[in-house]
Amino acid sequence: MKNHFVFVLILGLVLFLSSSCQNKEEGQHAHEMQHAEGQHAHEAEETSQNYDCGNCGMPSQEYPQFHSKIKTEAGKEVWFCSTKCMFIATLKPKSILKNLAESQVMDYYDSKFISAKEAFYVTGSDVPGPMGADLIPHKSKEAAEEFMKEHKGKEILSFDEINMQVMKGLMK
Ligand SMILES: [Zn+2]
Repeated sequence: MKNHFVFVLILGLVLFLSSSCQNKEEGQHAHEMQHAEGQHAHEAEETSQNYDCGNCGMPSQEYPQFHSKIKTEAGKEVWFCSTKCMFIATLKPKSILKNLAESQVMDYYDSKFISAKEAFYVTGSDVPGPMGADLIPHKSKEAAEEFMKEHKGKEILSFDEINMQVMKGLMK
């Protein structure tokens, strides 16, 4: 009779331990699920706006002094690490980035976005962009001239004067 009692006690203890262990595992599992869902939401956020350079793939946000962006007519924003990458991407013969509703570059002195079509670009200066020799944008011709003197620039170009020939000159 005594043996039987001990057996029941042990059985009860084993059942109690195994059930508490299971609860713990379930709790952990639920936590993992939650974590995975959170991560998923984060990924979705990142894919809604891609900041990687549309030409070379570098993270454009790491070059706030030089990065540029364009808005396609479909309303999609494409970012670039530099003025150079933006022009290369749009001037490529097979580029799909032809109909630009808006394109913006960084004004060198103000570090603010300005219209790419209205900017004045200095070539051949001693200020390199993230991809080497670059076109340095300015909001006014006066600022571009000042920069030319300060940084040994070669010439000032308007948006429409920039073609693949100019870009090839930068890559020498
Ligand atoms: Zn780039």
